[in-house]
Amino acid sequence: MPPKNLSQLPSVDRLLAQPDLVDAIARHGRQPLTDCARAELAAARELVRAGHGLPTADALAAAIVERADRLARPNLRPVFNLTGTVLHTNLGRALLAPEAVAAMAIAAGAPCALEYDLADGSRGDRDALVEPLLAELMAAAMGQSPQTPAKEFAATIVNNNAAAVLLALDTLAKGKEAVVSRGELVEIGGAFRVPDIMRRAGARLVEIGTTNRTHAKDYAEAITAKTALLMKVHTSNYAVVGFTKTVDEAEIAAIAHERGVPFMVDLGSGTLADFARWKLPKEPTPQDSLAAGADLVTFSGDKLLGGPQAGIIVGRKDLIAKIKKNPLKRALRVGKVTLAALEATLRLYRDPDRLAERLPTLRLLIRHEHDIAAQAERLCPAVADFAGENSLVSIEPAMSQIGSGALPVERLASAALVVRYPGKRPGKQLAALEARLRGLPQPVIGRIADDALRLDLRCLDPADEARFVAQLQ
Ligand SMILES: *Cc1c(COP(=O)(O)O)cnc(C)c1O
Repeated sequence: MPPKNLSQLPSVDRLLAQPDLVDAIARHGRQPLTDCARAELAAARELVRAGHGLPTADALAAAIVERADRLARPNLRPVFNLTGTVLHTNLGRALLAPEAVAAMAIAAGAPCALEYDLADGSRGDRDALVEPLLAELMAAAMGQSPQTPAKEFAATIVNNNAAAVLLALDTLAKGKEAVVSRGELVEIGGAFRVPDIMRRAGARLVEIGTTNRTHAKDYAEAITAKTALLMKVHTSNYAVVGFTKTVDEAEIAAIAHERGVPFMVDLGSGTLADFARWKLPKEPTPQDSLAAGADLVTFSGDKLLGGPQAGIIVGRKDLIAKIKKNPLKRALRVGKVTLAALEATLRLYRDPDRLAERLPTLRLLIRHEHDIAAQAERLCPAVADFAGENSLVSIEPAMSQIGSGALPVERLASAALVVRYPGKRPGKQLAALEARLRGLPQPVIGRIADDALRLDLRCLDPADEARFVAQLQ
């Protein structure tokens, strides 16, 4: 026999007629609210059977609305990235410029000339949406007229840089040998390993040199009749220091060209702008590599370029033509939304004077530590309140990272709010605080290290400050 008061639980229909639920139905629809009401009633029945009291109709209604609101919340939600890593792969890397965001929305919501040549009404090529822009940007940096390289250079876009490397190797080096220095057999986070990609592409990796030193003669001696290409991988997430020797791109290119094999550079990150302009550490650009004689360069769209996730392959037109004919290209190509964002991002590079205002990633990278420290002063009281009475919150210098493998050793001076719980075992309190911050409507992601929770404010855009404070209260 069920306990008598089970039958006193309200029916689904009665619950759905409550004013709060009527409002929630208007927001989410009748079916989701019916499902939530059933789920909450089932949970209440379990509790009553286990000896708990009968919930009130109001409590049930509140639980149902809470459940419906929670289920309606998008899984992919914005967060505050206070980790100190600007291009954080787990937090989505680059923030797109408003121009790119607007272009994505337009492309998403209307038919667009993705593969349609509007000039003559024939079938077009989606790469042609960005190829002339890339050619122009490459040409300008190399001090040539925009027309010349447009004839010699070509570009193709795939889903990410890992795909770009895979596709290029699969096209040019399948069943053949690819020569890479031992010091460049990189593993990028998320299981991108140069030797594994080689194997997947059916290329035989020929390792040359040693971990710390590779010489020009190592490249020259490795070339055989089976050599498909020489490859250089930007050692993006680590640095070899001490007794080292690498061969610069111009020298490798000269060796490759003397023997009639192409030279490919996997740049990883790649900005098209000269970072010296903003006093940022020097980051190699695809223009540098092409100017040095690279035949193909691959780089990511969503690292320092500040655009959408994409892999960009630029270089010699005949090689790009082969790559585009590979059936894998069809499997790795990008959609219209990505191309819209990439085109809009590339357009911003035509005007380097305004790039820092318009490209959010660059804007965050060049924020001055004094501004960040002043922001920390403003936010300290709200964070201290949120952290609780027994917390100790201080403003400390911090060193932000660029992230995503760009400039691994360089750090950017920044400021952080640092929360400590004086006492013997602060770990539990720190973990609880971190969880509360993660549970906010716009979750705040910091970093626990050395018995403290660190919130590096570099990536808290001053325009978002009021929203940040409001949700702490
Ligand atoms: C980041 C990186 C990759 C992978 O690029 P994704 O766009 O993340 O796929 C490959 N090579 C190097 C050198 C990198 O730095």
